[in-house]
Amino acid sequence: MHTTALVLFSGGQDSTTCLAHALARYERVETVAFDYGQRHHVELDARLNVLRELRARFPAWADKLGDDHLLDLSVLGEVSETSLTRDTAIAMEASGLPNSFVPGRNLLFLTLAAALAYRRGLQVIVTGVCETDFSGYPDCRDDTMKAMQLALSLGMDRRFLIETPLMWIDKAATWQLAHDLGAKADASGGGQAMVDLVVEHTHTCYLGDRSQRHAWGYGCGNCPACELRAKGFAAFSASL
Ligand code: ZN
Repeated sequence: MHTTALVLFSGGQDSTTCLAHALARYERVETVAFDYGQRHHVELDARLNVLRELRARFPAWADKLGDDHLLDLSVLGEVSETSLTRDTAIAMEASGLPNSFVPGRNLLFLTLAAALAYRRGLQVIVTGVCETDFSGYPDCRDDTMKAMQLALSLGMDRRFLIETPLMWIDKAATWQLAHDLGAKADASGGGQAMVDLVVEHTHTCYLGDRSQRHAWGYGCGNCPACELRAKGFAAFSASL
């Protein structure tokens, strides 16, 4: 029986939904993020705001929400030259991968998360990777997650479960999931409150733009992350 979880929590829409998923399911939940010299600290600020708002709006979750960890991973900036760490345009490279791809990033994240989970006595590692809105990142694939689960469990001699609640759903369904988890936590308006929280406080935009407010939240509105988020929100809103 799994009762404890560590959520890879970046402050974006996906990882916030994963956090709600974990809080709905487990008794004790901790969060972790990695600081690797992203161009904008907007995401890191967003995660603190999301944690604060979750605690304030959902008291049942507040009781389960434990420590938040921020690990310095600046070394990643030394081996990566990508649109997330340098001021280059977000474009497809010859490899067919977006140049926002940081080779091995998720593998490092999961390895460090497992090491932290080991120390903290947490059984499940929850991550918001997804094959449906697949941007071509090989380290987000289901097979990669299964391989990591096996490698980490063997390598640390501790049975970890890597849970990926968003793996097979699209962005519209991710909005719906956030809504449903909020409704389950608080029957009186929790669904809408959770959607509002995601809109207002999570951050997804690659450019770190929080100057423009749309129905789906803040962002430039033009980068791939904004487009995906906007399109999903429109489909979710139309289905209400
Ligand atoms: Zn954007």
